[in-house]
Amino acid sequence: MAELDKLLRHNKIETCTECGGRMRAVRSGVYECETCGAQALDDFGRIREYMKDHGSATKEELVVVLGVRAEVVNEYIRQQRLEEAGNAGDGKCLLCGAPIKFGSICAKCKRTSRSGTTAGKPAGASGKRRYM
Ligand SMILES: [Zn+2]
Ligand SMILES: [Zn+2]
Repeated sequence: MAELDKLLRHNKIETCTECGGRMRAVRSGVYECETCGAQALDDFGRIREYMKDHGSATKEELVVVLGVRAEVVNEYIRQQRLEEAGNAGDGKCLLCGAPIKFGSICAKCKRTSRSGTTAGKPAGASGKRRYM
């Protein structure tokens, strides 16, 4: 556990890589330099971005693609922080019901929904409704 604490603390970004200025957290996982305004993401921020792009991700994916330590990913899941990135996070794709680890839509539906109405939003003014 102490080891994990170290990993999580190490993860905090304190110094700007651009100018060496002080970084402050502007929101969960995102840091901004007080001097030059450069932004940086910690592991959590990167996971969040990745899941925003892909709709969902497996733990293995995060470890392999982002190089985040599995223990760290586990800890975020345990703290339920990762559910913030998706919206449902109950382990099922909202559209097709396929099992996913977190996020709200499986990778396949994410791809499909990209070409049409944004998933999860009501059809809106156009009145065009996609089948679920
Ligand atoms: Zn800076
Ligand atoms: Zn799906």
